[in-house]
Amino acid sequence: MNGAPFDRRFRKSPVIAVSEVWFCLYCNRISRALARVPMVTSLPHSRGTLAPNRLLKELTWLRVGGPADWLFLPADFDDLRSFLLNLELRFDVFPMGVGSNLIVRDGGIRAVVVRLGRGFNGISIEGDLVTAGAGALDAHVARKAAAAGLDLTFLRTIPGSVGGAVRMNAGCYGTYVSDRFVSAQAVTRSGEAITLTPRDMGFRYRQTDLPPGTVITSATFEAPRGEPAALESLADAQLARRDATQPVKDRTAGSTFRNPSGRSSTESDACQDMNAWQLIDRAGLRGFSLGGAKMSSKHPNFLTNTGSATAEDLENLGELVRKKVFQFSGIHLEWEVIRVGEPKRGG
Ligand SMILES: Cc1cc2nc3c(=O)[nH]c(=O)nc-3n(C[C@H](O)[C@H](O)[C@H](O)COP(=O)(O)OP(=O)(O)OC[C@H]3O[C@@H](n4cnc5c(N)ncnc54)[C@H](O)[C@@H]3O)c2cc1C
Repeated sequence: MNGAPFDRRFRKSPVIAVSEVWFCLYCNRISRALARVPMVTSLPHSRGTLAPNRLLKELTWLRVGGPADWLFLPADFDDLRSFLLNLELRFDVFPMGVGSNLIVRDGGIRAVVVRLGRGFNGISIEGDLVTAGAGALDAHVARKAAAAGLDLTFLRTIPGSVGGAVRMNAGCYGTYVSDRFVSAQAVTRSGEAITLTPRDMGFRYRQTDLPPGTVITSATFEAPRGEPAALESLADAQLARRDATQPVKDRTAGSTFRNPSGRSSTESDACQDMNAWQLIDRAGLRGFSLGGAKMSSKHPNFLTNTGSATAEDLENLGELVRKKVFQFSGIHLEWEVIRVGEPKRGG
């Protein structure tokens, strides 16, 4: 009986009921949005830029990828180190370069994504040693080295940054990062400044042992001597060759799968039968598409976004290709492109 006056007093008119529904929906939207943004107060202070919920599709070559919980652009080495030192360990850290070897899934990345900008793109030369900030573009490093008579031409046609090149042991036309690498500076997930030797890196074909969350900040390479003009024309020839054989102007992430031969397709002694592109071609998948994703007609190991692809389209097409190649040739293709993040929930 006690409840009766209460019930009567709060009996809803239809108008109140509708506005309450809207209010609840509004609160629900706000709380869902807030749930995606970790509390600002729990992140350390930085002199750099820290942006919540930053869409990564704007930063990847394939133009796909949902939001990073946080995108962090440290001001310089000390800023990065003190940020990571003070960042609670419950936060994952994902270093990204210029996104030329990434499929970021449509639901985004639940981590602090670290991207190195201006404070990390210096290039200096001393004798035969070239030291470059991890944010410097490979092409700039190769050009500056060539002007000083040092041959890092193999970096000229790779569209990534130095950090990505070291992490991926990038290479082409017969030379890999591991052939020229001397050492790298890095900051571990817990904020320790370290020097990495070739042994620490454990270089293999398109793979290294770099621990997750460790951010490379610069790398030193030893380069053979060469005539600047000759190095420049070698680079021009390689650029032209790439242009003729690869869809360099499309939205891609380079070679999608590792060559089972364990060598770059651009090497003259690479076993053609064991190149991923040959296996895909023989399985009849050149130009094969799914949604907005397509295996390039120009180079069948290049997965392309024709304009409207989601990360899900790209990944599904890649998996379908792996399945069909296995059915056709009995060979398991392994992803070379790094896939990160989570699928979009609920469409
Ligand atoms: C048209 C085209 C052609 C290509 N040709 C080649 C080729 O010939 N040879 C070749 O090897 N690759 C090639 N690639 C692939 C790609 O360019 C390389 O793998 C490149 O080294 C990736 O560098 P990135 O800065 O874009 O790294 P991202 O794609 O941003 O990241 C790749 C990986 O590196 C890690 N990473 C990036 N920066 C850092 C850092 N500072 N510290 C720690 N980890 C880091 C990321 O966590 C991720 O695991 C090509 C790509 C395209 C689009």
